[in-house]
Amino acid sequence: MTKINLTGQSQEELQAFAESIDEKRFRGKQLFHWIYQRKATDFESMTNIATPLRRKLSGLATLGHLELQKRSVSASGSIKYLFRLADGQLVESVYIPEDDRHTLCVSSQVGCALMCSFCATGKMGFRRNLLTGEIVDQVLCVERDIGRELTNVVFMGMGEPFKNYDAAIKSANLMSHPDGIAIGTRHIVISTAGIIPEIYRFADEGHKFKLAISLHSALNEKRQQLMPISRKWHVQALTEAMKYYIKKSGRRPTIEIVLLKGVNDSYEDAMALKEMVHNMPCKINLIPYNPTIEAFQRPDPRQVDRFANWLLSSKAPVSVRWSKGDDIDAACGQLATQELDELSA
Ligand code: SAH
Repeated sequence: MTKINLTGQSQEELQAFAESIDEKRFRGKQLFHWIYQRKATDFESMTNIATPLRRKLSGLATLGHLELQKRSVSASGSIKYLFRLADGQLVESVYIPEDDRHTLCVSSQVGCALMCSFCATGKMGFRRNLLTGEIVDQVLCVERDIGRELTNVVFMGMGEPFKNYDAAIKSANLMSHPDGIAIGTRHIVISTAGIIPEIYRFADEGHKFKLAISLHSALNEKRQQLMPISRKWHVQALTEAMKYYIKKSGRRPTIEIVLLKGVNDSYEDAMALKEMVHNMPCKINLIPYNPTIEAFQRPDPRQVDRFANWLLSSKAPVSVRWSKGDDIDAACGQLATQELDELSA
């Protein structure tokens, strides 16, 4: 008989599980507490559960989905984790400490189907969606490893969270549950390349997580060259979806722009972006490209400053995010391919 894996289950599901094995419902709440708040890795450590029941649970169920394969520490303090999944697939997470902020960048899929031209993850193609438990377990494993609680989670690792919507949302709900991991909903960012139906769904369902949109270009043709997904949904459709989200949620999404030298860092690009965000309450995040694909380069810092300045007169606050951890290939868009290449070599 295959054991049931409880990591990834909600409180209600754990209560139903308790009943299904002829135990009281409240045992489900206890399990929830042990799994998500105490980060237990086995049933033996669950001291408020009597020994016979602990044995019974060990016989029927397991905890955890990830096995640590490799851990690399960057000079900046970032740590890249490579995890092996039960079926042998590999997935990465990156821990980024910054003052009193402790952020984990999680993956939502093994590989990615979107094939954005500058993104290394896209080059490995799409392998599969992660299960809810495989997403939330990234948080549990890293909190155990660093010996402290994370304050922030960003869905900016491998994969497109809105192409694995249910698992992404359920895992984010588990991360924010006050009886468990308890990371504030506003400290969880879901980043999407712009899967339009799911932006509407996210807005309609009223989730409190932050939404980030990878725009990269407000010019339709240019965006289509960088992001094939944009051939299906044009910039205009994305703008409308964002406006709908803003109206429905009362929140400001973040627009992400990966700045690529000579590709999308010109005055014309800045003006198109400025026009797009005119009357659209949002924030703009400029991310100077981390060179991973040979065809693209990072603009020099002066050009990044210039681009930011061109946007200054727009109402949207602009910030520049230099991604860290490039010395261990943990920076944006650098996840997984290299390890996978090495392992399969
Ligand atoms: N699929 C989602 C989330 C994953 S990528 C999305 O597209 O939003 C998270 C962010 O990192 C995206 O904005 C992506 O465009 C950006 N990114 C990818 N490769 C990068 C690189 N080499 N340097 C900097 N940012 C990169």
